[in-house]
Amino acid sequence: MPAEGFLAVDVGGSSVKSGVVVEGRVEKLAREPVAPDLGGLVAQLERLAAQAEGWGVCVPGLVEGGTVRYAANLPLRDAPLLELLTPRPLVFVNDLVAATVGEAAGGTLALLQVGTGIAARLAVDGKVLPGGEVGHLRFRGDGPPCRCGNRGCVEAYLREAGSPTDDALEAIGFAAAALVAVWDPGTLRLGGGVAEAWGNVLLDAVRKAVAERVLPGTAINVEPTRLGDAAALVGLAELARSAT
Ligand SMILES: [Zn+2]
Repeated sequence: MPAEGFLAVDVGGSSVKSGVVVEGRVEKLAREPVAPDLGGLVAQLERLAAQAEGWGVCVPGLVEGGTVRYAANLPLRDAPLLELLTPRPLVFVNDLVAATVGEAAGGTLALLQVGTGIAARLAVDGKVLPGGEVGHLRFRGDGPPCRCGNRGCVEAYLREAGSPTDDALEAIGFAAAALVAVWDPGTLRLGGGVAEAWGNVLLDAVRKAVAERVLPGTAINVEPTRLGDAAALVGLAELARSAT
């Protein structure tokens, strides 16, 4: 694969982002609505990849090998997406994994994504470790119902709040403190559409929650993402580079 010409494609719940990644920077960033079904998505991705010398793709949801087991907001259930794609992408991963690789840039950090849902991953020396579902950590037992069937999950507070309510900020802060307590990542970055919209209000709430809940002396920088919504595209290029 040449150093230039790698096409990264990030499939989201409503749009598909693509761009050519050159030395860690995204050029020719484009965005279009996501196709409404599997056949349409395959055609869409193949059209985007047609001119690429090498390409990679990330999708939201549970990815096992080349199959999308489940994806919130996309009509993909046990979809063998990878084997349907020609040319075959060099990288096919979950979008949060790709974004965490991009943000980490070879280093160690945790990325907490606060968007349509809440999820986090840890990268150690640039490699992403398996992780669980922090968005479904129960914050309060009598809280709002969650799409997972339980009540009071951190994510359920987010879904109720279009603007940063005290409850939503406390719930996200609680989840962030749990991540810091368990992972001790040194750096915690907040990304995703809600994190961007709420800005310093959310950053300050998370800093406060971590300071109150985690063992004093734990060194942690809480900061916004550096790459924003380009993180997954940059991460795909890095994954392709390290795979070849
Ligand atoms: Zn839940």
